[in-house]
Amino acid sequence: MSILELSGVNAYYGNSHVLFDLEMAIEENDVVTLLGRNGAGKTTTLRAITGTVPRREGHIEYRGEDISDLSVEGISQRGIKLVPEGRRIFPTLTVTENIQLAHELAAEPREIEEMFDIFPVLDELRKNRGQNLSGGEQQMLSVARALVQNPDLLLLDEPTEGLAPVIVEDLREVLGDVVERDVTVLMTEQNVDFALDLGEQAYIIDKGSNVWEGSVDDLQDREDLLDEYLSVGGAEAE
Ligand code: ATP
Repeated sequence: MSILELSGVNAYYGNSHVLFDLEMAIEENDVVTLLGRNGAGKTTTLRAITGTVPRREGHIEYRGEDISDLSVEGISQRGIKLVPEGRRIFPTLTVTENIQLAHELAAEPREIEEMFDIFPVLDELRKNRGQNLSGGEQQMLSVARALVQNPDLLLLDEPTEGLAPVIVEDLREVLGDVVERDVTVLMTEQNVDFALDLGEQAYIIDKGSNVWEGSVDDLQDREDLLDEYLSVGGAEAE
């Protein structure tokens, strides 16, 4: 059984209809990448799952339970955590305090020390304030804050956005470690190389609709799709 299933999902911002009958099925412990151009509806898909889009229709099942009508808190309590685009951390709190705060909010959190094992970079920066971290370090801290809450399903919105290539490589290694820890990951990406490297399954959406789904291995050979629906060879991908 899939851990997460979307069927006939539509989403709207006011009068603007942005997702059209979206279908997805995500298997437990898979790493799934949602690809598509700017404005394709990737972030909105994650927001539909977490219940934070203003209006949505259709069915979203999580472990066989229809979560479409649950509150944002109810969905979060089921174990679905989103790391939004733009690294939302507390700038004046230290690294440790940022993780502690997330830890306190969770019913069954992971150990804080485990986060420092996974993210050695953060271990060296425990007392530094969020605002003094580099973009890559802030991204790691965002992921650590989500992970310490012990999610079953981790949603990552463009984790590599704005990061220098060498930092993207660090993040890839760390996320590789994360996904070995019984977590299912659904991430949006525009960095195709990163997505193909880390992901197992991929979905491509365009203008809010499904256009392709399959294994990352199959996608590697589909230059037609990469050309048509994704910006390949962008600055971040090199
Ligand atoms: P990007 O890679 O640029 O973040 P995306 O694939 O994540 O793009 P979304 O952010 O989901 O795309 O946007 C899908 C569509 O919805 C776009 O046309 C966008 O302009 C529109 N949209 C997104 N957020 C809002 C909002 N808060 N109000 C109105 N329209 C929005």
